[in-house]
Amino acid sequence: MSRKFDLEAAHKASIYSREQVQSSEICGCFYCCDTFVPDEINQWADRDKVGIGQTPLCPKCGIDSVLGSASGYPITLDFLREMKRHWF
Ligand SMILES: [Zn+2]
Repeated sequence: MSRKFDLEAAHKASIYSREQVQSSEICGCFYCCDTFVPDEINQWADRDKVGIGQTPLCPKCGIDSVLGSASGYPITLDFLREMKRHWF
């Protein structure tokens, strides 16, 4: 299978991604491979100067491995699994 996406870049898109995630229709976690809407995210890491967390934590498993559809990456089970194989 040829690699269609840059998994390193996709991982970078999962941190400090508050704006991207909140403007996404759907988000997915590449640790537990579940999907959810941004409103379900209630924990954020990497607080900025005013204390607002910039990196979403998965509402299902609590891992900072969330990608939003606004990142341009496909939030599909296949892609999340490919990310998981690469990173975990
Ligand atoms: Zn998860």
